[in-house]
Amino acid sequence: MRRVLSRAATVAICCSPAALAPALAQTPGPSAAPALLLIKAGRLIDGRADAPQSNVGILVEGERIKAVGPLAQVQGQGRNARVIDLSPMTILPGFIDTHTHLLLQGDPTAQSYNEQLLYQSTPYRAILAARNARIALEHGFTAIRDLETEGAMYADVDVKRAVSRGEIPGPRIFASTRAMAPTGMYPIVSDNWELELPHGVQPVDGVDNARRAVREQVAHGADWIKYYSDRRYYFGPAPDSVLHSWVNFTDEEAKAIVDEAHRLGRSVAAHAIGSDGIAAALRAGVNSIEHGDGMTDSLIDVLVAKGVYWVPTVTVSRYVAGPRGGPWGPMVEHQRQAMARALKKGVKIVLGTDVGGFPWTELNQAKEFEYYVQYGMSPLQAIKSGTSLAAELLSQPDLGAVAPGMYADLVAVSADPLKDITELQRVRFVMKGGVVYVSP
Ligand SMILES: [Zn+2]
Repeated sequence: MRRVLSRAATVAICCSPAALAPALAQTPGPSAAPALLLIKAGRLIDGRADAPQSNVGILVEGERIKAVGPLAQVQGQGRNARVIDLSPMTILPGFIDTHTHLLLQGDPTAQSYNEQLLYQSTPYRAILAARNARIALEHGFTAIRDLETEGAMYADVDVKRAVSRGEIPGPRIFASTRAMAPTGMYPIVSDNWELELPHGVQPVDGVDNARRAVREQVAHGADWIKYYSDRRYYFGPAPDSVLHSWVNFTDEEAKAIVDEAHRLGRSVAAHAIGSDGIAAALRAGVNSIEHGDGMTDSLIDVLVAKGVYWVPTVTVSRYVAGPRGGPWGPMVEHQRQAMARALKKGVKIVLGTDVGGFPWTELNQAKEFEYYVQYGMSPLQAIKSGTSLAAELLSQPDLGAVAPGMYADLVAVSADPLKDITELQRVRFVMKGGVVYVSP
């Protein structure tokens, strides 16, 4: 029944349980034909084209887009369709955040991180994760890549299951489960060797254990594999100060993780902040570099040559720089300059925020679009980085654009985001899989 809801529910519902209940009551039986919806869009930014279109009709059948084109033409194909009139608005593809932590509520300091792992049960953290999934969807994010649970084992897969079964509202979730780092190289670590403390990752040592950990995570539902390539960041001596780091895995271990993941049809994301960690991750053959604050010109060339994606997570960098102190402040400026050079060289920069590193309740993830424009992207480029390019990273050809055959994942905003990118932080309409979750 709930699967039917995701395909065929046509009534406008929002995310409160009270609003959801009547929608469930009206869900048609399994034999009902998929419902037709005609959305009138004043303007459409489809996620792929280089210019918006005006007066567009979008015909939605069940969970997918059936037709997109000039309104008069599409109207003819959907004579019996229910109409959603968004003619004063601009429609875009649902946003995609490729770096999130549903199971985390902000960790600007070690203390804030440790408190969550030490004093919150995994069930409690999963309840907050369900809330976070709703927040993401209400902010227009219809898909996320969740890059590890920070000690909450495989609970991201449970949240994903609850969303896909229609039990809770949330985005499409691509889960990576536990992530990996070698023994002693990821929190929680303590001087008190008598305590067995929770691990923020799956500790992995040696190539055999690396392969085994990938197999375990895939067996428990990992869509992606993530590992931590480095830690301990520091700048080399001026004037050409390079951001260095300590590399976690041996090359053999990192290559075993990547090879086993690829063998099992999973892509690999590497947390890599310093230049040494980025270089090691690129040698291992990862698919995306996460954070990448220490990116250099020669590493940029490798990204371009290998087609590796860069997910810069600017929002979190700026959020934690103050509380963390040390190199974290200068790292922000270093990354800003590196991104400008990477854009010129054509690196595939994909939107990711690291939300969960900052509290879900405090900042709207769509702020990341604003930073990308400040850092040199055109507004349209920023939009593509959080829609079509993000879908490409996720290998999801049915997401990230408004076109026939794609999933009907749409958002709408009142003003023109090409003139003011912060408009994306004020979505007025959200549809995922043909179901309306936010309406004006
Ligand atoms: Zn992260």
